[in-house]
Amino acid sequence: AKRESKHFIQQAIEADLAAGRFSGVFTRFPPEPNGYLHIGHAKSICLNFGLAKEYGGTCNLRFDDTNPTKEETEYVESIQEDIRWLGFEWDSLHYASDYFDQLYQWAEKLIGEGHAYVCDLTAEQTREYRGTLTEPGKNSPFRDRTVEENLDLFRRMRAGEFPDGSRVLRAKIDMASPNINLRDPVMYRILRATHHRTGDAWCIYPTYDWTHGQSDSIEGISFSICTLEFENHRPLYDWYCEKLGIHHPRQIEFAKLKLSTLLMGKRHMLRMVKEGYVNGWDDPRMPTISGYRRRGYTPESIRNFCADAGIAKFNSTIDIIRLENAVREHLNAVALRRMAVLDPIKLTITNWPEGKVEMTEAINNPEDPSAGKREIPFSGSLWIEQDDFREEAPRKFFRLKKGGAVRLRAGYIVDCHDVVKDADGNVIEILCTYDPETKSGSDSSGRKVKGTIHWVSAEHAVEAEVRLYDRLFTVENPGDPEEGKTFLDYLNPDSLKVITGYLEPALAEAELGDRVQFERLGYYVVDPDTTPQKRVFNRIVSLRDTWGK
Ligand code: ATP
Ligand code: MG
Ligand code: MG
Repeated sequence: AKRESKHFIQQAIEADLAAGRFSGVFTRFPPEPNGYLHIGHAKSICLNFGLAKEYGGTCNLRFDDTNPTKEETEYVESIQEDIRWLGFEWDSLHYASDYFDQLYQWAEKLIGEGHAYVCDLTAEQTREYRGTLTEPGKNSPFRDRTVEENLDLFRRMRAGEFPDGSRVLRAKIDMASPNINLRDPVMYRILRATHHRTGDAWCIYPTYDWTHGQSDSIEGISFSICTLEFENHRPLYDWYCEKLGIHHPRQIEFAKLKLSTLLMGKRHMLRMVKEGYVNGWDDPRMPTISGYRRRGYTPESIRNFCADAGIAKFNSTIDIIRLENAVREHLNAVALRRMAVLDPIKLTITNWPEGKVEMTEAINNPEDPSAGKREIPFSGSLWIEQDDFREEAPRKFFRLKKGGAVRLRAGYIVDCHDVVKDADGNVIEILCTYDPETKSGSDSSGRKVKGTIHWVSAEHAVEAEVRLYDRLFTVENPGDPEEGKTFLDYLNPDSLKVITGYLEPALAEAELGDRVQFERLGYYVVDPDTTPQKRVFNRIVSLRDTWGK
């Protein structure tokens, strides 16, 4: 669905450009490298890169790496891979840590102008002094230190003279402000930790708020787009830029993408990975970009979904079905059709000439004539799905039943005349005759049957491990557990079933990452665990939504 009207961010941008406030649209995507990107980040990526493209501007990738204890090079690399896979390329790559020197100098400047001070309150006292939403804060007893004393202490903080956590640098704003973010926020903390890029060069680290706006400013960003929880930080963002007298970008907030049944916070995802509830960040059940890639989602479907979800000013939850439908819609257009039987029962054609193999022809994709056709071997011994047969069936059961007939896709109409049972009375083989006049494509019989089912020739079938993935959580909002429970209580015990599938021979050539439709079942992708000895397919998504049915 194309959106005709412009969303509020486009409107704000156009107003600012028209007023001459900025010379262009310069955006950035600023992940903290403390985990893998998730589908919520995809939304921000599509927005920031998309706006830069739409208005002929640029979009940077900037790692917001001010928290040395949580950040790792592995994450830096995965983030770049994921952005590229989504189809975007940054104009330039930056790290907030590249600006540590500049930030330090600016901090000294603010101290020199009486806008920042070194505070010795403990963390607990600082909290106490900060006040609450209804109570104003109290001034720190260290608030009136002289510029000289503050400069001296700050330099000695940097020089490593004080223990971790013993002092902070704070901006001197207003302890009575109704906005708690303006009650003398912390700019620097003492922390001896090895940074993934600056190593042990620093033992004081800037806070997010003291870093973010200045990094935007240094890069000449015009529109600093972030999520709603930073709305109350905007006055602080503006205060720093004004006090420093530097290029002043405009911060604009939008609502985070939230999807039903997903748990996206990096904190939760890290726990799932570390404690082994999933097989790594790229487990196909994870809401990460790398998980979706391995699951077989296409970048196009994720981009389409993000565009369709729109940009909102208020938080809401989007039904996960919309993401799944975006995947179905794209794969329906591009995936080749193949036959595969995942829950097999033998069908024997009793009037088929012994040993005869006949090639039949099937189209690869009814949505795309250019995808051509393929040949499939047909024989007297086939696999069909258990589910497509009933010995006794209601009138409206249009698959195969005893005494009934069905068309085998791209093959013949068969009539079932008998079954073979095991000692317990279970049907283990279905006996049919075929009608030679009814071959698909050259049917001269005039016979009509209601049902068509898929099959594979038993002797030609290719065996594969098939991983049937389903939702990881059984509830709409696993992040909001009932009293006494955690998100772990909502894990879906059936989120992965591993079975053996019987595939038509063309699938022996499927390559890593190839996506196909197993007719009547769903979309599947070749998993990287595939080896020359063992093919592995992942279920991307079923053909239609069957959750809860
Ligand atoms: P999380 O804790 O879920 O990983 P985060 O906001 O801490 O989220 P960052 O690495 O700081 O993760 O995010 C980088 C950018 O992506 C930020 O600009 C942030 O606003 C945006 N972002 C993060 N989550 C979402 C979301 N669910 N929807 C839209 N944008 C998001
Ligand atoms: Mg963040
Ligand atoms: Mg986070």
